[in-house]
Amino acid sequence: MSKIKGGCLCGAVRYHTDAEPLMTAVCHCKSCQRQSGTAFSVVIAIPKGSLRFEGREPESYGDTGDSGLAVNRRFCATCGSPIFSQAAATPQLDWLKAGSLDDTAWVQPQINIWCESAQRWVRMDDEIPKVPRNPPLG
Ligand SMILES: [Zn+2]
Ligand SMILES: [Zn+2]
Repeated sequence: MSKIKGGCLCGAVRYHTDAEPLMTAVCHCKSCQRQSGTAFSVVIAIPKGSLRFEGREPESYGDTGDSGLAVNRRFCATCGSPIFSQAAATPQLDWLKAGSLDDTAWVQPQINIWCESAQRWVRMDDEIPKVPRNPPLG
C-alpha cells in the first residue's frame, strides 16, 4: 500500500497510486509561488503517469518554467487547487503537490530548489542541499 492518496480542496479530484515517492523537494520558483499563492510548493516526485484518478481528471495549464522549459500544471477545475505538475526538464517524473495528500505525516523534504527566487524571509533547513535553480538530474 502506497502512502500516496489525496485530492483537491473541494473533493472533485481524488487520486491514489501504488508508486513509491522518489524524492521530495521544496520549490521556490516564481511559478510555484504564483500558482500556490504562497512562498513555495512542496513537491513529491513519482514515476510519470502513476496517479490514478477516481473522479474528475485535473485540468491543464501549459506554463513555461523559469528554466525556459514547458511545465504542464494540473489543477482542479472547480476549486483551483494545484494537484501535480509535469516538467519537460524531468520527462520521467510527475511532481505531486504535497499539500494535496490526505496524510502528510511522512513528508520530509530532501532538497530546496530554485533558491535564487526564494522569498527573503524564508528560513531553509541547513541539513539538506539548496540549489539555485533546477536540481542536478540523473
Ligand atoms: Zn476541487
Ligand atoms: Zn516550482
